[in-house]
Order: sequence, then C-alpha cells, then structure tokens
Amino acid sequence: MQFTVAIDGPAASGKGTISRALAQEFGLAHLDTGLLYRAVAMKGGDPVAAAQALSPEDLKRADLRSLHAGEAASRVAVLPEVRAALTAFQRTFARRDGGAVLDGRDIGTVICPEAEVKLFVTASPETRARRRWQEAGEGNFAEVLAQVHARDARDTGRADAPLCAATDAVVLDTTDLSIEAAVAQACALVSARLKG
Ligand code: C5P
Repeated sequence: MQFTVAIDGPAASGKGTISRALAQEFGLAHLDTGLLYRAVAMKGGDPVAAAQALSPEDLKRADLRSLHAGEAASRVAVLPEVRAALTAFQRTFARRDGGAVLDGRDIGTVICPEAEVKLFVTASPETRARRRWQEAGEGNFAEVLAQVHARDARDTGRADAPLCAATDAVVLDTTDLSIEAAVAQACALVSARLKG
C-alpha cells in the first residue's frame, strides 16, 4: 500500500508531535525531514558535498535538535543543490510500501505533491516562540521570538521550495488548540482518507 501523509509548517507549530502521533496510530513509517537539513549543516564543510554524502550515521548526532542546528539548517536549506541532493531519498521514503508520514516545509508542494493527505500545521509566531522558550527553560523570550521571525522569513522567502501551504492542504492552526485536539483532528482526516 502506498499512502503518504505530508505535513508542512513553520518551526514549533506542532507538526512533529502530530506526525509522530499519526505514525504510531496508523502504523506508518515517519521521517522528520528537518533532521536531514540539520545533519547537513552540522557536518560542516561544503554543504552540497555534505548533502550528497549524507549517511544514516550523520542522523544520529546528539546535537541535531539544538536551536543552533535549526538555525544552521535553515541557512543550508536555501541552496538548491542541497535540496536536490536530498530529494530522491525523501521521495522514495514517501512512497515506501506500508505508508509514510513526512514532516517538513515542502513535502506537500515539492517532495510528494501526490500525497493522499496534506496538512499545513501553523500557529502564531508568539505562540511558537513561547513553546520554544518554555521547552528550553532558559533564555530571553524576546530573543526567541526574534529567532522565530528570522527563521520564518528565511523559510518563506527563499526562491527554491519556500515554506507555503499546498493549495489542497488542510490548514490546522494550533494557536488556540491543545496538542490532544490537534492530534485528534489530524487522526480524523487520515482515518477518513484511509476509509475513502
Ligand atoms: O523542522 P526543522 O526545524 O527541524 O527544520 C530545520 C530547517 O530545515 C528549517 O527551518 C528549514 O529551513 C529546513 N527544512 C527545509 N525543508 C524541509 C525540512 C526542513 O527547508 N522539508
């Protein structure tokens, strides 16, 4: 069975949590595509060469989830050659037998426009910054908010595969939604599509 759930959205929108929950609920494989860009950035050296030589070992680094890695990832992600080097792996993963959930910025628009379910998960910049800030348990809220705005601007403003909702994506705004409610809505969508 080929069944792809494409989940896109900005940083800290809740898309990672929703993706993991969907994968578990429906027995689908899950790929957090942001990790690929984070691993490329943290490998150092020429990012295009790093993307072309990316290995499963590179995805196991302990520092990939740091704020620094996310920031660095968004800088290498503007390079079309980096994106091109990561495309085939993501497409193959998306269409693997048994179904898959992929979350990122361009899954429903570029990587898998034929996905059976497309979600665009978003929330206000203030809400997302507060989540990041509370998660970190330290630092200055205004600084985190500025970082969120800067990352959004880079991700939505780049020429190649900018962050945007596919025209046929269902938009899920989690600003005033608990994570349980957001997961329930996403599960209902997937369930309806699987039955249909
Ligand atoms: O989702 P995450 O915060 O881990 O992504 C880090 C960065 O990687 C994003 O800000 C974005 O610039 C880039 N990215 C991307 N396309 C994806 C996933 C992530 O450009 N599919």
